[in-house]
Amino acid sequence: MSRKIVVLGGGVGGLVVANRLRVLKDVEVTLVDKKQEHLFYPSLLWLMIGKRKPDEIRRDLGVLERKGVCVLSGEVTGINPDDKSVTVGDEKLPYDYLIVALGADLVPERVPGLSEDAFNLYELESVKRLRYALEGFPGGKVVVLISSTPFKCPAAPYEAALLVEHFFHTRGKRGKIDLEVITPEPLPMPTAGPSAGTAMTVLLALRGIAFIGSTAVKEVDVSNSELIFNDGQKRLFDLLITVPPHQAPQVVAESPLAGSAGWIPVDPKTLATPYDGVYALGDVTTVPLPGRYKSDQPLNLPKAGVFAHHQADVVAHNIATEIKGRGGLRAFDGHGWCIIEAGYGRAAAASGNFYATPTPAVRFKGPGLVLHWEKVLFEKYWLRRWF
Ligand SMILES: Cc1cc2nc3c(=O)[nH]c(=O)nc-3n(C[C@H](O)[C@H](O)[C@H](O)COP(=O)(O)OP(=O)(O)OC[C@H]3O[C@@H](n4cnc5c(N)ncnc54)[C@H](O)[C@@H]3O)c2cc1C
Repeated sequence: MSRKIVVLGGGVGGLVVANRLRVLKDVEVTLVDKKQEHLFYPSLLWLMIGKRKPDEIRRDLGVLERKGVCVLSGEVTGINPDDKSVTVGDEKLPYDYLIVALGADLVPERVPGLSEDAFNLYELESVKRLRYALEGFPGGKVVVLISSTPFKCPAAPYEAALLVEHFFHTRGKRGKIDLEVITPEPLPMPTAGPSAGTAMTVLLALRGIAFIGSTAVKEVDVSNSELIFNDGQKRLFDLLITVPPHQAPQVVAESPLAGSAGWIPVDPKTLATPYDGVYALGDVTTVPLPGRYKSDQPLNLPKAGVFAHHQADVVAHNIATEIKGRGGLRAFDGHGWCIIEAGYGRAAAASGNFYATPTPAVRFKGPGLVLHWEKVLFEKYWLRRWF
C-alpha cells in the first residue's frame, strides 16, 4: 500500500525533503505551498546591488511535478495531527508522514511606521525597489536595522551592510555615506559565540560601518525619518533597510504542534514532534542549544537555510529507513556554515558545531576570494540540484 507523505512548505527544507523522498517505492509525495515559486533567499543580497535579476534566483515549484512530486498550490489552514490530516483551503489531505517546513512569517506592522518608511531586506519586491533607491541615493545616513530577534540568517544584515558599503565605494560616493547597523543583539550573530561576533565587528569597523548593539527599536517616526528606541533615544536616517520582526505562521501557532511562542519544539537530533509520523524542520522550529542560556532563557539554534537543509536530509533519511525497514537512523548534529559576502569580490565564513558545549565551536575565517566563489557556486548548485 502506498504511503502518503505530505510536505508543508516549498522553501529550503521542504524542497530537499520532497526531492529525497520522491524516489522511494510506493510513496505519494505531496508538497504544499501558497506560493508557486521557490526563491533562493541568499541571492536577494546580490539582487539588492544589481548583481542578479529576479528570474535568476527563483524557480517554478511546478517543475517538481515532472519528478513525480504532486505540487499543491494553496494556503495551509489547518494541521490536525489527531486525525492525521492537514487542511489546504477547503480540502482535507490525509497523511502517513507529515513534514512541516513552513518557515517564519514577517510582520513589519509590529513596529509602528516600519512598513511605511523602510525597505524590507527579506522580501523580493522591496529589495527590487531598494536596488533603485541605492542607485539614486545622493548621500546621507544609511541604517541597517534589525528590529527584533529571532530572525532568519543571523549574518544577512551584516552581509547587507558590507555589500552596501562596497556598492557606494564603486560609485565614488563612499565619502558621502554614513553607514550603521543597529540591533538588539549585544554582538553580531550571538549564538555563534563571542569570537565570531567580535570578528564581525572588526570587519565592520575596518569598512567604517558603525555597529550599535543592545538597542531595540520601538517605532519609526515617518514624518521626521527618525528611529525611536525602547530606551527613549532617537536617531535620524536618510535610508532605512530593515529586517522586520518574525513570527511563527498563524496556522502553526494555532496547531497542537506549537510551543508557547508559536514555533514548534522538536527533538534536536531527529526533528520529531510528539505526534506519530510528524516532523518539523527549519525556521518554523525552536531547538534549544544544549547548556546555553541568556537571562535564564535557553538560547536556540539560529534560523538558517543551512540547518533547514541538513535537518531535511536527516528527516528524509530516517523516514526512508522506516519505510524500507532496513538501514540505520541518522541524527542532526548541529553543524552549520554560512558564507558571508563582504564586498570587493570577497567573502568571510562562519562554520562549526552549534550544539557544542559550553560554547559553540564556530570558526570565523576570511574574507577571501575563494569563499566568494564558493558562495556563487553553491547558488548555481542549489538551483540546478533541486529543480
Ligand atoms: C536575505 C536573506 C539571506 C539569507 N542568506 C542565507 C545564507 O546565506 N545561508 C543560510 O543558511 N540561510 C540564509 N537565509 C535564511 C534562509 O533563507 C532560511 O533560513 C530558509 O529559507 C529556511 O528554510 P525553511 O524551509 O525553514 O523555510 P522557507 O524557506 O522560508 O520556506 C517556507 C515556505 O512555506 C510557505 N508557507 C508559509 N506559510 C504557508 C501556509 N500557511 N500555506 C502554504 N505555504 C506556506 C512559504 O511560502 C515558503 O515557501 C537567508 C535569508 C534571507 C531573507
